[in-house]
Amino acid sequence: MSLIANLLTLHHADRQLRALRTRLDGAEAALAKSKHAEVDAGIRARELKVQAMQLRAAAANIEAESGSVQSRIERHREELNKSTNMRQYETLLADMKLQQDKRGELDSSALNFMEKADQLDTQVQAAAAEVSRRHHAMELAETELIERRADIGERLTELEVARDRAAADVPAVELALFNQLADATDGETMAEVVTVDAKRREFACAECNMELPTAIFSAVATHADAVFQCSTCRRILWLAAEPEQAEATV
Ligand SMILES: [Zn+2]
Repeated sequence: MSLIANLLTLHHADRQLRALRTRLDGAEAALAKSKHAEVDAGIRARELKVQAMQLRAAAANIEAESGSVQSRIERHREELNKSTNMRQYETLLADMKLQQDKRGELDSSALNFMEKADQLDTQVQAAAAEVSRRHHAMELAETELIERRADIGERLTELEVARDRAAADVPAVELALFNQLADATDGETMAEVVTVDAKRREFACAECNMELPTAIFSAVATHADAVFQCSTCRRILWLAAEPEQAEATV
């Protein structure tokens, strides 16, 4: 077979392989996304839990402070009962009032923290439920990937073998060019030369639709063992006479 016929055979196998791999890539991407979402939900749940703990710890500190203020008030009350002069009595009374106000503020602040912590608990529960939902979705995506792998695994191997076999018939330099173009065009490596107007000898690249010089048409038509590329899209050009035998071998 000619070089162009071999390249078309390779092209055919390469496209089929790419299409199949795309199906697998889709399932792999879905799993990766789903794992990411689970991790994010886990981080959010932990953050909320830590926030709730911090609020409770802050409330406990304030309650301890309030307790020591209360002790001071009780001491003052005892001293008040024992006080012997008016000035001392009034000073103690004024301080007691101050301490009571302070205690009131501390208690309301502790209560405020506790209420916020309770509100956070609801969010913590919701976040935990979200984590479990995300985990379930991740498991489904995992199963989907395993099933898809099992489904197409055999066909994938067949196509890989067919592609390797076709690649073995193409010389190294042309193979390197083919591989490079295949990656750049996502498998659309080959472009047919089409006749736009036979009388006027107008030809075009079927992939990018740009006009091809007559000299290129003649070269492609007469040199099936040489590679000519479209000057616009860089694809390897071929003429319709070649493909039937090429595709029939895959
Ligand atoms: Zn082109």
